[in-house]
Amino acid sequence: MQGFGNLLEGYRRFRANRYEAEQGRWRQLAEGQAPRAVVIACCDSRADPATIFDTDPGEIFVVRNVANLVPPYEANGGRHGVSAALEFAVTQLKVPEIVIMGHERCGGIEAALTGCFHGAPAGEGGFVHRWMAQIDDAASDIAGRHGTGPEAARMLEEIAIRQSLANLRSFPFVGTREKAGDLAILGCHFSISEGQLYLLDEAEDVFRPVATD
Ligand SMILES: [Zn+2]
Repeated sequence: MQGFGNLLEGYRRFRANRYEAEQGRWRQLAEGQAPRAVVIACCDSRADPATIFDTDPGEIFVVRNVANLVPPYEANGGRHGVSAALEFAVTQLKVPEIVIMGHERCGGIEAALTGCFHGAPAGEGGFVHRWMAQIDDAASDIAGRHGTGPEAARMLEEIAIRQSLANLRSFPFVGTREKAGDLAILGCHFSISEGQLYLLDEAEDVFRPVATD
């Protein structure tokens, strides 16, 4: 049978190999989850947290959206998907760490930087434009000073991570836990071409490559 972009082929491999070998683990996972980190990542197919952090099911609680953004805390009637996921992970599952992972050549960041979807109707880029508008100020600033090339995009990718970290801390149930020492918050950036993760040192405000040996 075709369909699912041939995903069913992969499903059958999963059943025959991994599931078959780990049935006990799956039965245990069905009882509940206790992930050790929340990872907020981009939807981009090239920046998959489970691959990059080499994790198994049950280990990381993943929130993905365009450009891995955390919007500011807003207790209004909006449909806040990121807020709901964070609330559940932090207050119910009591996950002790949140990692925001940006990545190289992010399409959402490029859209914000170039303004390519400005004025586009919904369905033709309008949704991306509206979502990315939350970093408009930073995007205009970077585009004005550095243009819209790869270096400017990298700068904006890093700025967006910093802004998301600040927004994350605006959630009362996040900020208070971090201050109490119950929650660690980290920002990082993944280079697709290098396969290299860069971790934000907030004290010195610089992204440093994570040692791989
Ligand atoms: Zn992206």
